[in-house]
Amino acid sequence: MNTPTKYQDLHLQAIAGQWRPGSAGRTLQVFDPFDERALLEISMADRSDLDEAYAKAAEVQPTWAALGPSARAAVLLRAAQIFDERHEELVDWIVRESGSTRIKAEVEWSSAKAITLEAASFPNRVHGRIVESDVAAKESRIYRKPLGVVGVISPWNFPLHLTQRSLAPALALGNAVVIKPASDTPVTGGLLLAKLFEEAGLPAGVLSVVVGAGSEIGDAFVQHPVPALISFTGSTPVGQNIARQVGGGAHLKHVALELGGNNPFVVLADADLEQAVKAAVFGKFLHQGQICMAINRIIVEAPLYDAFVERFVAQVRGLQVGDPSDPATAIGPVINRKQFDGLARKVEQAKREGAELLLGGESRGLLFAPHVFGEVTAEMELAREEIFGPIAGILRARDAEHALELANGTAFGLSAAVFSGDLERGARFARRIHSGMAHVNDMSVADAPNVPFGGEKNSGLGRFNGDWAIEEFTTTQWVSLQTQPRHYPF
Ligand code: NAP
Ligand code: MG
Repeated sequence: MNTPTKYQDLHLQAIAGQWRPGSAGRTLQVFDPFDERALLEISMADRSDLDEAYAKAAEVQPTWAALGPSARAAVLLRAAQIFDERHEELVDWIVRESGSTRIKAEVEWSSAKAITLEAASFPNRVHGRIVESDVAAKESRIYRKPLGVVGVISPWNFPLHLTQRSLAPALALGNAVVIKPASDTPVTGGLLLAKLFEEAGLPAGVLSVVVGAGSEIGDAFVQHPVPALISFTGSTPVGQNIARQVGGGAHLKHVALELGGNNPFVVLADADLEQAVKAAVFGKFLHQGQICMAINRIIVEAPLYDAFVERFVAQVRGLQVGDPSDPATAIGPVINRKQFDGLARKVEQAKREGAELLLGGESRGLLFAPHVFGEVTAEMELAREEIFGPIAGILRARDAEHALELANGTAFGLSAAVFSGDLERGARFARRIHSGMAHVNDMSVADAPNVPFGGEKNSGLGRFNGDWAIEEFTTTQWVSLQTQPRHYPF
């Protein structure tokens, strides 16, 4: 395979079919969180750039949709091929821009490619219906159509995957898309994908990427009259604010919200301890714990508690912390100083509240030393709030019912996990957890292109992937045909 020339000019934005600077007159510095060196500088977008991007998207969307299923599938298939051709380049950007370890960057790359391949099948999986009518000589047809323009807002933790998870299905189903990536990751969260789809043959203007601060252009992005759906992945407070704006604004529209989690990992007394410890360590510390599905509360039934804690701490102590580009590194830097400071504050709060510090350590740069706390109770902040960092809290449950009560004692409901020596017992337990996803004898971090991904309660609205994404990124229209003159009562 020929190595392609690396994508150039990533300091420019993809706005309405052109690569150009944003018009805000201010710049955004993009940093490598490991060495805190600047990677590039982007002139930020303002309201006028947003208007241009949305207007162009609305203009070209019907032509894109009219190309038909094979032509759209071909663009997605070509994009998937480019994921392979540019594997190193994409992984390298993920490592540098978001401080991802190689392990995590590879997981992210393959998830983003897998969703692209799955989306390539969507154009041929969209079906209408014809249904019976009680009105004589009436035919009722139900068409499934693109929404039109979709606005995507994505976070910094899995930027390539979580943007692509909305983008690929939306495009495949005939929509045009405008992306606002997270300010920490504009390249992997948007600009690289714009380059990639341009190379794959996506017509100009069908995809725009506007880089600007959520606090500045977020409201305008959401309230804009053009987008028919806002597909948001990020924190619960910002998601709730978006829901309020969509509900209370002048232009009602669809909204899909993939928000924060507070995911329980339950170890029942009959569990395989060794396997449960391994799963807990990976599901807690992958990407420094900065994953919406990351384990947030480890809940261990009393008879196994001491043995679990001992082995868990021993394994965490052995994790390599450092340069994320070193394939042996398990824990790299957290995304930025603000997150780092928030984590340091959480550690202090946990100590104040009386949690037992089992493992700590010195931090350097943005490398936050993995921390483990035992004897965490449901009232402590570590158990109540999403941690989103390399801090583990372990709770002791009196028995299985208490473990379930603890697991459900949260306003979130994204993912969950339970370990049991009896798979069906595990399944019965999993079904009683109020979450969109629950895993038996595995960790809570999981996604696949053909399963419904999403949360309950404050973790969000809607589902990604497979048939569920086809629902989410299309709309339906009932068209009736009165095939003979109808008789009206008056
Ligand atoms: P965030 O602060 O909510 O930011 C997410 C995105 O929203 C960014 O692009 C951000 O832009 C933008 N934004 C900020 N304020 C906005 C506003 N007023 N209007 C519109 N957009 C706005 O979340 P994050 O810190 O990037 O990500 C971490 C959170 O996301 C965690 O809670 C995590 O659990 C959640 N998450 C959920 C999922 C899931 O699938 N359920 C997946 C990943 C992450 P700026 O960067 O410019 O501020
Ligand atoms: Mg950065």
